[in-house]
Amino acid sequence: MNASKLLEDLQQWYHAQCDGYREHWFGMEIGTTDNPGWFLKVDLTDTILEDRPFGGVEYGCADTDDFSLDWISCKVDGAQFLGYGGPRKLPDLIQVFLAWAKSEDDWLAVPPEMSQRELDLEWYRTLSEGVGPETCRKAGCSILRLDQSVFCRQHHFEQLKGYLPEV
Ligand SMILES: [Zn+2]
Repeated sequence: MNASKLLEDLQQWYHAQCDGYREHWFGMEIGTTDNPGWFLKVDLTDTILEDRPFGGVEYGCADTDDFSLDWISCKVDGAQFLGYGGPRKLPDLIQVFLAWAKSEDDWLAVPPEMSQRELDLEWYRTLSEGVGPETCRKAGCSILRLDQSVFCRQHHFEQLKGYLPEV
């Protein structure tokens, strides 16, 4: 695949993940390292890749005495794709990521949970501020409870949705 096609596809994947919400917290980063070389970091949170296994891609070695240029090391760590490679390997890093992303037919699909999270957040914004005078029942929380709940805003949300709101 030529370089402009790689960039086009990378942009297409990135753009497909943007929904007016996710891009505020998650994205991708391209930069250089002191080996010397390149890195490509891609946030996988709220993408269909989040739970997909990645076997890793590795060849060559960054730390040899002859300063080999022909090396790559790609893995998934937590919810991030981490690709590192030699100073001429940026297209290869993008290629490795895209090959993985495209291993499903509908490679630009987004997880259905995303829209539910958006709805959850909309609902969270409608909750009133704490009124007290009692504090939230959650252990260790000293924020005033909501008038319709024994919990503060955040913990009321957590109680009902099973996760803390990302605000
Ligand atoms: Zn609380």
